Order: sequence, then structure tokens, then C-alpha cells
Amino acid sequence: MGDAIFKQRSGYLGVGIVASCGVLTPTQLSGLAELAVAVDCRYCKLTTRQTLIFIIPENRLEDLRAGVTALGLKVGVFGEIVRNVKACAGNQDLCQRSLSDVFALGGELQDRFMNRPTPCDFKIALSGCQRGCTDPLCADYGVIATGNDTYDVYLGGRGGSRKPVHATRIAAGINGEGVTALLAFILERYDALAEPHERLCNTIRRTGMEAFLPATGFLDRYRPPQENDFLAFAGL
Ligand code: SF4
Repeated sequence: MGDAIFKQRSGYLGVGIVASCGVLTPTQLSGLAELAVAVDCRYCKLTTRQTLIFIIPENRLEDLRAGVTALGLKVGVFGEIVRNVKACAGNQDLCQRSLSDVFALGGELQDRFMNRPTPCDFKIALSGCQRGCTDPLCADYGVIATGNDTYDVYLGGRGGSRKPVHATRIAAGINGEGVTALLAFILERYDALAEPHERLCNTIRRTGMEAFLPATGFLDRYRPPQENDFLAFAGL
């Protein structure tokens, strides 16, 4: 694990920069443009995980770090940790289909969990509706809004490999507080159950999903009264 700073074959450094779910204020955007020029950035790349990569000379790294911090942004992280959180254009300004403000929830999850050590890399994706533009079913922990501050949670997805895995729904109709509480629970179970370097989907395949489900009633307080039945793993 460590900062997302990679020496490239060209001799330049690729430095990942993280905003809150890929959202930049105008001040941050213009500040990044000035910073790119100031650190002799060759070019910038938008990534699929909603980060930005600056390609810079090695000797400009500390200037870039200082500039990124001054703009309220972060250098990204990689390795066996919780990665930056990906959220779709799901708020009322950006997508008319959005059912809930997933930016706000995604930012909270990122602030609390990003950089937390895990047995293998751990990816989180949130979508503002069932269209799932951030591929939440391909994330270790996927969240899909089903109403205003109401979410379904999917566990154990994996994309970007030779054996992609679709996540399984483990909770329905919980609020953002419940999404956070369930994530904290899942990460503790993952720590306890995984072999070293074992991706969550492989741990689930070895142990069964039941080993990752909280006790009946755990999520009741996070549901509207009419939806207080915990979703049985097998029933979906
Ligand atoms: S998942 Fe839904 S709310 Fe999010 S960008 Fe796609 S269509 Fe919009």
C-alpha cells in the first residue's frame, strides 16, 4: 500500500489525485490548471475511478503534493486498502434520474474509510439509481439508491479481471447511516475471514455469504418501519 505515485517507463512520475467522488469546484479546477503548469505536467488523465493523473518530472513531486493539499485535494492511494470511493453523477444538479444524493454519502464513506488496510484492495461504488453508471455490481461494496436516502447494498463484486464477478444484494431499503454501519461491519468480517491478499469475492466463495451477514435486526434501525425485514441472502 502507499500513495498512488508510479515511476513510468518514460522516466516521469504518474501521480493520482483524488477529489470527493470526482467532484471539483471551479476554484479547484482552475487551481489544478495553474498547478499543472507550475509543476511542468506533461498532461493529465481522467481515470475510470474518477481520479486525475498528473504526469510530472520526478523532481516536481513535492511541489505537486503541496499544491494538491492546498487545493483541498489528496494524492491517491493504492494497494491493499480501501480505495477512493466512486460515485455517479447522482445529485439533483447533474442527473435527473438521481433518487438520492450519492455524492454526499460517497464523500462521507471516503473520508471515513479510504486508506483503511484490508486483506486485498477494496473498492466502493455508489449509484444514484438502478442504471448503475458506476458499475456498483462490479465493486466489492456497491450501493444503489432506491429512493431519497434509501439504498440497496451489493457485496463481493469484481470487475477488471479475467474472471469478473457480479455482486450479490445483501441489504435493501437502508438509509445512508445504515450503509456506513454495514460497511464497517463488512470490513471487520473481511479482516477476520480472509486469507492474506484474498479478494473479497474469493473469500465469499470460500466461506459462503452467510459468514458476512450481520445478525437479524442489525439493520432494522436504519430502515423505514415498513421495510424492516432483513433481506435473506438466498431470497433476494
Ligand atoms: S446511475 Fe442513475 S443517477 Fe447515477 S448517473 Fe447513472 S442514470 Fe444518473
